[in-house]
Amino acid sequence: MKQNFLPRYTIGTDAFEMIRKIVLPYGNRIGLIYGEKAFSASREKLLPALEDFEIVHQEVYGKEASYANINRLKNCPQLKEADALLAVGGGKCLDVVKTVGDMLEKPVFTVASIASTCAAVTKIAIIHNDDGSFKEIYRLKNVPVHCFIDPEIIVHAPSEYFWAGMGDTMAKHVESVFSSRNDVTDFESSFGVAVSELCYEPILEKGEKAYNDVRRHIVSAEVEDVIKSIIIATGTVSVSVDPNYNSALAHALYYGLTVREWMERKHLHGEIVSYGTLVQLMLDGQQEELERVYGFNRKVKLPVCLKDLDLEKEDPLDDVLDATIINPELDHIPYPITKQMVRDAIDKLEDYKG
Ligand SMILES: [Zn+2]
Repeated sequence: MKQNFLPRYTIGTDAFEMIRKIVLPYGNRIGLIYGEKAFSASREKLLPALEDFEIVHQEVYGKEASYANINRLKNCPQLKEADALLAVGGGKCLDVVKTVGDMLEKPVFTVASIASTCAAVTKIAIIHNDDGSFKEIYRLKNVPVHCFIDPEIIVHAPSEYFWAGMGDTMAKHVESVFSSRNDVTDFESSFGVAVSELCYEPILEKGEKAYNDVRRHIVSAEVEDVIKSIIIATGTVSVSVDPNYNSALAHALYYGLTVREWMERKHLHGEIVSYGTLVQLMLDGQQEELERVYGFNRKVKLPVCLKDLDLEKEDPLDDVLDATIINPELDHIPYPITKQMVRDAIDKLEDYKG
C-alpha cells in the first residue's frame, strides 16, 4: 500500500476567513498555541476569525522546539479537552504543536507567520535540546490538516527569514534532482522531484522582486508565489519523496559548517545552505545552473564565497569537511564524494566570477 497526504492550504490576505469553514467541522473547542511575536502580529486579524470557537486554552509554546515544551503542553488538562489545535508561528512553534497533536491524536491546523521553512505542512518535526542544539527528527503520523497563510503577516515579519527561506527552498530542487539521479523512482518520488521545479524556477524568476517587496512590506503576486514555493512546494516535495532524496551536499555542508559553533549565531540555516547549493553545483559540474544560482545569490546578497560566511579563504576547513563527508545526507548520492572533491569545489567557487 502507498499513500501520500499532500499539503492543503489557503493563502491570501483574507485567508483567515476560511478558518471557520475548514476547522469548525472538527469541533468548536480549540487549543491555541503560538509564538509570542507571531501572535501579536496576527491577533488583530486572527481573533475575529475565531469568534465561533471556544478557545479552551491558549499559551506561548516556549522558545525552543524541545520535548520539555512538548511534554508541558501534552500534559495540559485543558488542551486534552480541545477538539483541535491551532498553531500560529514559525517552524519551531509549528513543530512543537504538530508533535503535541500527534501524541494527543488531535487534528492540527497551522498559521504560518513567517516564510522560512515548510514546517507548516510537513509530517516531520525538528526537535532540539533545551540549549537549542539539534536532538532528532520526530516523524508524525500525518500532515497538519490545513495551513492558513496570510501574506500580509509574512511581509511584516523580519525579511531575513524570507531571504534565507529562498536559499533553503532552491536547495530542495538541486538536491532532490541530484540524489535521485540514476535511480528508478516510484510514483511518489517522481512526483516530488517534479514538484521541486517549483522550489527553483519561480525563485530565480521572481525572488529578487519578491524579496524587495517583503522588505517594503508590500504584498504582491511575486511575494505570494515565492511564499508558495517556500512553504507549499517544498512541503510537497518533503512529504512525497523517498527520504533519501530530501537533501544532499548542500545540507551536508551546512551540517559541516555548523561544527563552528558561532556559525549559526551569525547566519541563518537557509543562508548557509544556499552557499552549499553553489558548492554542490560546482562539484557536480553544472555550469549553467551554477551561473544562474550564483547570479541570483549575488543579486539578493545570499552568500557566494567563504568570506560571506565569515570564513577565510585560507582556512583549511578540516573539521568542517570531516563532518560534511560523514553526514548521512551523503549516504545516497549518484557517486561518492570525497573531502578533497568538496575542498576543490570550494576553492573553484572562490575564484569563480559568475
Ligand atoms: Zn534546510
